[in-house]
Amino acid sequence: MKVKGHCLCEKVEFSISVESKRFDACHCSMCLRWGGGPALTVEAENGVDFADEAFVKVYSSSQWAERGFCSHCGTHLFYRLKEGNFWNVPLGVLEDRNSFEFSTQIFVDHKLGNYDFANKTKMMTEEDVLKAFGAET
Ligand SMILES: [Zn+2]
Ligand SMILES: [Zn+2]
Repeated sequence: MKVKGHCLCEKVEFSISVESKRFDACHCSMCLRWGGGPALTVEAENGVDFADEAFVKVYSSSQWAERGFCSHCGTHLFYRLKEGNFWNVPLGVLEDRNSFEFSTQIFVDHKLGNYDFANKTKMMTEEDVLKAFGAET
Protein backbone atom coordinates (compact mmCIF):
# COMPACT_ATOMS: atom_id res chain seq x y z
CA MET A 1 0.00 0.00 0.00
CA LYS A 2 1.06 3.60 -0.62
CA VAL A 3 1.78 5.98 2.24
CA LYS A 4 2.47 9.70 1.86
CA GLY A 5 4.85 11.80 3.88
CA HIS A 6 6.41 15.25 4.11
CA CYS A 7 9.02 17.18 6.06
CA LEU A 8 8.26 19.86 8.65
CA CYS A 9 8.48 22.80 6.19
CA GLU A 10 6.64 20.77 3.48
CA LYS A 11 9.22 21.57 0.78
CA VAL A 12 9.82 17.81 0.52
CA GLU A 13 6.80 15.63 -0.21
CA PHE A 14 6.98 11.96 -1.10
CA SER A 15 5.25 8.61 -1.11
CA ILE A 16 6.46 5.12 -0.27
CA SER A 17 5.09 1.61 -0.65
CA VAL A 18 4.88 -0.62 2.41
CA GLU A 19 4.13 -4.31 2.58
CA SER A 20 2.58 -4.05 6.03
CA LYS A 21 2.06 -1.25 8.51
CA ARG A 22 4.91 -1.99 10.90
CA PHE A 23 7.75 0.08 12.32
CA ASP A 24 10.98 -0.74 14.09
CA ALA A 25 13.23 1.06 16.57
CA CYS A 26 17.00 1.26 16.19
CA HIS A 27 19.07 1.87 19.31
CA CYS A 28 22.48 2.07 17.56
CA SER A 29 24.86 4.89 18.45
CA MET A 30 24.65 6.48 14.98
CA CYS A 31 20.84 6.73 15.01
CA LEU A 32 21.00 8.09 18.55
CA ARG A 33 23.52 10.75 17.54
CA TRP A 34 21.67 11.64 14.33
CA GLY A 35 18.19 11.97 15.75
CA GLY A 36 18.77 12.52 19.45
CA GLY A 37 16.94 9.32 20.36
CA PRO A 38 16.30 5.84 19.01
CA ALA A 39 15.17 5.94 15.36
CA LEU A 40 11.58 4.78 14.70
CA THR A 41 11.50 3.69 11.07
CA VAL A 42 9.31 2.05 8.43
CA GLU A 43 10.78 -0.04 5.62
CA ALA A 44 9.95 1.38 2.17
CA GLU A 45 9.59 -1.42 -0.38
CA ASN A 46 10.90 0.32 -3.49
CA GLY A 47 12.66 3.41 -2.23
CA VAL A 48 11.14 6.85 -1.81
CA ASP A 49 9.21 8.59 -4.58
CA PHE A 50 9.91 12.34 -4.14
CA ALA A 51 7.64 14.94 -5.76
CA ASP A 52 10.72 17.21 -6.01
CA GLU A 53 14.26 16.45 -4.82
CA ALA A 54 15.52 20.06 -4.78
CA PHE A 55 15.67 20.18 -0.96
CA VAL A 56 16.76 16.57 -0.39
CA LYS A 57 20.33 16.39 0.96
CA VAL A 58 22.21 13.13 1.46
CA TYR A 59 24.88 12.50 4.10
CA SER A 60 27.18 9.50 3.79
CA SER A 61 27.11 8.24 7.38
CA SER A 62 29.20 5.08 6.94
CA GLN A 63 30.85 2.91 4.29
CA TRP A 64 27.54 1.09 3.79
CA ALA A 65 24.78 3.65 4.37
CA GLU A 66 23.50 7.16 3.67
CA ARG A 67 21.00 9.36 5.49
CA GLY A 68 18.78 11.92 3.79
CA PHE A 69 17.28 15.11 5.21
CA CYS A 70 15.53 18.31 4.13
CA SER A 71 18.14 21.03 3.55
CA HIS A 72 15.64 23.74 4.54
CA CYS A 73 14.12 22.48 7.81
CA GLY A 74 16.44 19.59 8.72
CA THR A 75 13.75 16.89 8.94
CA HIS A 76 15.21 13.40 8.58
CA LEU A 77 13.81 11.71 5.48
CA PHE A 78 15.48 8.33 5.03
CA TYR A 79 18.25 5.87 5.80
CA ARG A 80 19.40 3.75 2.87
CA LEU A 81 22.08 1.19 2.10
CA LYS A 82 24.52 2.14 -0.67
CA GLU A 83 24.30 -1.37 -2.13
CA GLY A 84 20.95 -2.88 -3.01
CA ASN A 85 17.61 -1.19 -2.50
CA PHE A 86 17.02 -1.08 1.27
CA TRP A 87 15.31 2.13 2.45
CA ASN A 88 13.97 3.11 5.87
CA VAL A 89 11.82 6.19 6.45
CA PRO A 90 11.15 7.73 9.87
CA LEU A 91 7.68 6.92 11.19
CA GLY A 92 7.11 10.53 12.21
CA VAL A 93 7.26 11.96 8.66
CA LEU A 94 4.41 9.75 7.42
CA GLU A 95 0.81 10.96 7.24
CA ASP A 96 -0.48 7.59 8.51
CA ARG A 97 1.97 7.35 11.41
CA ASN A 98 -0.55 6.45 14.10
CA SER A 99 -1.80 3.37 12.23
CA PHE A 100 1.54 1.47 12.24
CA GLU A 101 2.30 -1.29 14.73
CA PHE A 102 5.56 -1.40 16.74
CA SER A 103 7.30 -4.58 15.56
CA THR A 104 11.01 -4.93 16.35
CA GLN A 105 13.79 -3.22 18.30
CA ILE A 106 17.28 -3.62 16.83
CA PHE A 107 20.74 -3.05 18.33
CA VAL A 108 19.13 -3.61 21.75
CA ASP A 109 22.61 -4.42 23.12
CA HIS A 110 23.56 -0.78 22.34
CA LYS A 111 20.51 0.77 24.01
CA LEU A 112 21.25 3.33 26.72
CA GLY A 113 20.37 2.15 30.22
CA ASN A 114 18.24 5.18 31.07
CA TYR A 115 15.08 4.42 29.03
CA ASP A 116 12.96 1.41 27.93
CA PHE A 117 9.97 1.10 25.60
CA ALA A 118 7.01 -0.57 27.34
CA ASN A 119 5.76 -2.18 24.07
CA LYS A 120 6.22 -5.93 23.65
CA THR A 121 8.36 -6.21 20.49
CA LYS A 122 10.81 -8.58 18.87
CA MET A 123 14.32 -7.81 20.20
CA MET A 124 17.47 -8.13 18.07
CA THR A 125 21.10 -7.58 19.11
CA GLU A 126 23.80 -6.34 16.73
CA GLU A 127 24.80 -9.97 16.13
CA ASP A 128 21.18 -10.95 15.31
CA VAL A 129 20.93 -8.04 12.84
CA LEU A 130 24.19 -8.92 11.08
CA LYS A 131 23.08 -12.55 10.80
CA ALA A 132 19.66 -11.56 9.44
CA PHE A 133 21.25 -9.33 6.78
CA GLY A 134 23.81 -11.98 5.90
CA ALA A 135 26.73 -9.66 6.63
CA GLU A 136 30.11 -11.02 7.65
CA THR A 137 31.59 -9.82 10.89
ZN1 LIG B 1 11.69 20.70 5.06
ZN1 LIG C 1 20.59 2.72 13.92
